[in-house]
Amino acid sequence: DHEGADMPLRITVIGTGYLGAVHAAGMAELGHEVLGVDVDERKVDTLNQGRAPFFEPGLEPLLERHVGSGRLRFTTSFAEAGEFGDVHFLCVGTPQQPGGRGADLRYVDAAIDALAPHLHRPALIAGKSTVPVGTAERLTARLAAAAPAMEEVHLAWNPEFLREGFAVEDTLRPDRLVLGVTSRADAAVLEQVYAKVLHAGTPLVVTDMPTAELVKVAANSFLATKISFINAMAEVCEAAGADVVQLSEALSYDERIGGKFLRAGLGFGGGCLPKDIRAFTTRAAELGAHEALNFLREVDEVNMRRRSRVVDLVRELLGGSVLGAKVAVLGAAFKPNTDDVRDSPALNVAATLHLAGSQVVVHDPQANANAAAKFPTLSYADTAAEAVAGADVVVLATEWEQFTSMDPFELEQQVAYRRIVDARNALEPQRWADAGWAYRGMGRPVPT
Ligand code: NAD
Repeated sequence: DHEGADMPLRITVIGTGYLGAVHAAGMAELGHEVLGVDVDERKVDTLNQGRAPFFEPGLEPLLERHVGSGRLRFTTSFAEAGEFGDVHFLCVGTPQQPGGRGADLRYVDAAIDALAPHLHRPALIAGKSTVPVGTAERLTARLAAAAPAMEEVHLAWNPEFLREGFAVEDTLRPDRLVLGVTSRADAAVLEQVYAKVLHAGTPLVVTDMPTAELVKVAANSFLATKISFINAMAEVCEAAGADVVQLSEALSYDERIGGKFLRAGLGFGGGCLPKDIRAFTTRAAELGAHEALNFLREVDEVNMRRRSRVVDLVRELLGGSVLGAKVAVLGAAFKPNTDDVRDSPALNVAATLHLAGSQVVVHDPQANANAAAKFPTLSYADTAAEAVAGADVVVLATEWEQFTSMDPFELEQQVAYRRIVDARNALEPQRWADAGWAYRGMGRPVPT
């Protein structure tokens, strides 16, 4: 229902990217008055028309509805934001430092510096961006230096766990809420923001700011480790002639292990897991815990080796050289149901094959434009049929439903040679082998 919160608040969301745009729409859906703030004028214009600036299932209807009703607006003005908000959510990017492994906090600092001088009345700033532990404490000092009414301006950390592709659902019905606060009163304000979510029984953890900052990177480290664990098992399966898909299934029935995030394939990518585990390792060392997160380096390396493995399998199917071969790469997004290509394993494979001299044609149902902006020298096809036309080998690199449901007999009409690397273990090997395809999966035997 959208009758409005019992006590609607005036909320700003600073940074309206994959996280912030969804959070802004979600806060409006919870009944609040919302003002989104971004430095990107084009993004703000698009959002003010009720349109999503990126592909995220379910986002556009929410934007349309709440921009239409006037409950949700977007601006580039921090003066307007400071005037408007009771609560300011900080959702700007925290990418990997250029040339380093730590987090680049320049956007977080810039947002605080831009907002602080406009805070003339009581307000709570709640950080949602993923940051190194200790950032909230540092920002508190930064705020104190710049905000005129600092005693009345507080900081809290409320890390975000949404998944791209399920971001709307995860915002309105999260697995848990974590509030890192310095006072009971600040927790009460955030509990008011999330009253409807809490009322639905969502588990709540109220803690201090450093713990809240750490929960997010600990969660992502665990998830990355789980994926690299099964991908390490895939490497062993490849050496032993065993099948990691069946191994994974057998493991999954153990409730202590569980089957989620236990699929071997091309590994993780995106704007979060890779940079978060690197930043976490860097931060732990800065704090003196030099050895604690050494295993995350291995997690990263196992993950990156999967990308080389796919290139090796392509080479193997081509009889030893990729030079001049026509390779169709299906998928550019880092995972299905998003147009996000940040640190995308699929694009990495495509670019590596291109550099090695293949004629690569990429198709992604949503991410072609973002991919072309990043790798303009690759060729992009508007349809999968166009991408695979005359291909010497097909690589299934992102498990979009339209690729995993492909029919081997239909596809054979379009390719030059029936060769496929199933980099996501998303196809039935025997079915493809029976249809005459040379099939290679990840960590599974070659079907005969
Ligand atoms: P993004 O790059 O999509 O969005 C960042 C936005 O901030 C951009 O629109 C940018 O224009 C804007 N911005 C930059 N500087 C600004 C400033 N000074 N003032 C106002 N706006 C500014 O990034 P994202 O994926 O939305 O990630 C944002 C944060 O959320 C990161 O810390 C990320 O780790 C975290 N996070 C992301 C996800 C996810 O799935 N994308 C999930 C959980 C947490």
